[in-house]
Amino acid sequence: MTKVELGPDGKPVVPAHVLDAVRTLIEWTGEDPAREGLLDTPKRVARAWKEYCSGYADDPSLHLSRTFEEVGGYDEIVLLRDIPFQSHCEHHMAPITGKASIAYLPKDRVVGISKLARVLNGYARRLQVQERLTAEVAKCIWDNLQPHGVAVVIDAQHGCMTGRGVRTPGVGMVTSRLLGSFLEDQSSRKEVLSLMGY
Ligand SMILES: [Zn+2]
Repeated sequence: MTKVELGPDGKPVVPAHVLDAVRTLIEWTGEDPAREGLLDTPKRVARAWKEYCSGYADDPSLHLSRTFEEVGGYDEIVLLRDIPFQSHCEHHMAPITGKASIAYLPKDRVVGISKLARVLNGYARRLQVQERLTAEVAKCIWDNLQPHGVAVVIDAQHGCMTGRGVRTPGVGMVTSRLLGSFLEDQSSRKEVLSLMGY
């Protein structure tokens, strides 16, 4: 985990070599980093990237440390559907925008539902590939809640595909990771995927 030094304005201090790196990149695009409109851009870009990648300063498992055991005998699926998120691909640092559905079948304990979204963001706000993001979210819930089953399905668009390369806007990539009963039991799997809308 990395700690960010904050300046008097409460925003991250950007070291000179980071500002230089952004200026170099601007120059590489064909622009003039000394142009008036671009003077403060290196600082803004650097701070924006600290925010896009704030997951490195987050330990997502901590969001699952507070659980509730009083669930009134509830032993059915808990699902948070279509959680919007943004990440960045580790190959191009281009945006990945999409939605995730996260479900688990509790064994004795549950977490506050917003915590599942926090776990997602803890991993999404890093440089990622969608397959690993899907697997990391599932594993974190599996390891920390020790439920009967976990299902994570992510549907996302990749800026590196829509804005460059083959330029195919509107194409979504779907990845899933099923663990425990959702993996082993055909009817549980069908039930969770249909609740998710798949
Ligand atoms: Zn990419």
